[in-house]
Amino acid sequence: MNRRYVIVTGGVLSGVGKGILSASIARLMKESGVRVNTLKIDPYLNIDAGTMNPNQHGEVFVTEDGYEADLDLGHYERFLGVDMKRQNNLTAGQIYKTVIDKEREGKYLGSTVQIVPHVTDEIKQRIRELNGELIIIEIGGTVGDIEGEVFLEAVREMTLEDERESFLFVHVTYAPHLEVTNEFKTKPTQQSVQLLRRIGIHPDMIIVRSQFPVEGRDLDKIALFGGVPRSMVFNLPDTENVYEAPAILHSYDVHRKIATRLSIRTNGEFSWQFPRAFKSRRVAIVGKYLGTGDSYKSIIESVILCGVEKPDILDSQVLEEMSPEEIDLSLKQYEALIIPGGFGKRGMEGKLAAIRYAREHDVPLLGICLGMQLIIVEFARNVMGFANANSTEFDPGTPYPVVDIMEEQKKLLKMGGTMRLGSQKAKVFPSTRLCSIYGSDEIWERHRHRYEVNRNVCKSMLCYPEEDCFNKLTICAEKDFVEAIELQGHKFFIGVQYHPEFKSKVGLPHPLFEALTNPQRTCRR
Ligand code: GLN
Repeated sequence: MNRRYVIVTGGVLSGVGKGILSASIARLMKESGVRVNTLKIDPYLNIDAGTMNPNQHGEVFVTEDGYEADLDLGHYERFLGVDMKRQNNLTAGQIYKTVIDKEREGKYLGSTVQIVPHVTDEIKQRIRELNGELIIIEIGGTVGDIEGEVFLEAVREMTLEDERESFLFVHVTYAPHLEVTNEFKTKPTQQSVQLLRRIGIHPDMIIVRSQFPVEGRDLDKIALFGGVPRSMVFNLPDTENVYEAPAILHSYDVHRKIATRLSIRTNGEFSWQFPRAFKSRRVAIVGKYLGTGDSYKSIIESVILCGVEKPDILDSQVLEEMSPEEIDLSLKQYEALIIPGGFGKRGMEGKLAAIRYAREHDVPLLGICLGMQLIIVEFARNVMGFANANSTEFDPGTPYPVVDIMEEQKKLLKMGGTMRLGSQKAKVFPSTRLCSIYGSDEIWERHRHRYEVNRNVCKSMLCYPEEDCFNKLTICAEKDFVEAIELQGHKFFIGVQYHPEFKSKVGLPHPLFEALTNPQRTCRR
């Protein structure tokens, strides 16, 4: 079969859930027996998301192959249940860099290098390199953005070079609700469809997002003015639970409509299972990137996928200002705490205070990456009495550099893509809680860090499981560095140098989150 494409564009506003929708369409088609693949196109000039501030852009998602991706790849992984690779995220930065490198190498000798055809050719080539019968391509941003235009032009060209019938354009828009007149407004949708048509793309399907259900006559209007059959216009109001989206699309027969339009054979199966009922276990993430709700996306979803209510996010800088009594008061409502990853000194003391609280009050705690490094710092300061112990990331002159920059990182001058990244294998020691959680003595986990536990300075506070671990932190997994530690005798006090949150899938949340949120369940098998 000829390769088919579903191209998802956005109109009106960004942030209306194009990523979830693309992932949902991908899952729906996968359920129908189609071999799908996905591509997120980010029109920004960064080579990848690694250098972007989570406060503005949300979490940086790390793939198995060590690529620092846009967080939509996290949605794709969780919804599709498959691991993404670096090819699944394309940025304008990557394309322009390739084109300019080629120009310097003399590959275009004689030509004037231009957006069309050289940049668009490069985009088309990257798209065509992907495997799969059906490629779902999500074009980031909103139609009309100056940076996105070249990508729309590239796919438009593809519809001429391949067959237009192999492409289905889904335009995702938003219908705002006007309180005063109590009506939904369709004009922004109409105008964004016009923008798309001006570039030569006529949408085949319009998905209208909204706060509440939109009435049929509004959808009639969108169909009429958008030039799309009414049967191809759908409304997707906000849902509490994003994992409902594939089921809603299925109830609208979207899979069959896509299959018919693209002449794809499907098997009509659909067995999408996702958590619907949520245990009320109060979990808090003690974070510092609060500029967007997306900064801790994969951690939040990992908890939700365990069937537990959405965790709260606490501002570690606020904790910093509190007395120990106030900290007790604000943390005692939580049954589990998560200290997430992060960079830089800001808010660090607040995280240390939360760790101390959890250690002293036997509250389950999971420290992730920076979270584990801070478990080490807190233990050094408050149990070992190493005054002013710190990570050299925060205090280069500390007398006890219990966390230090990795040797190989010292030589690196460039920032982008140079951390310890991606999946690495580690040994888990039998008889540790971690081993019973995984049910395995070997793990593969994803990394993203420059600093690690400084074993020389931490010698007296670390132990191996078979040793006397009284008043020490037990190393429960290692590679040539400390991968995970735990405090024995505590309900649950584990720090991991890696990021378990990136491996949770729908129906298969990461076992560490299962164990943290469900204390009865400590063993995977
Ligand atoms: N800043 C720490 C480091 O680079 C932790 C990184 C993280 O939490 N991802 O090692």
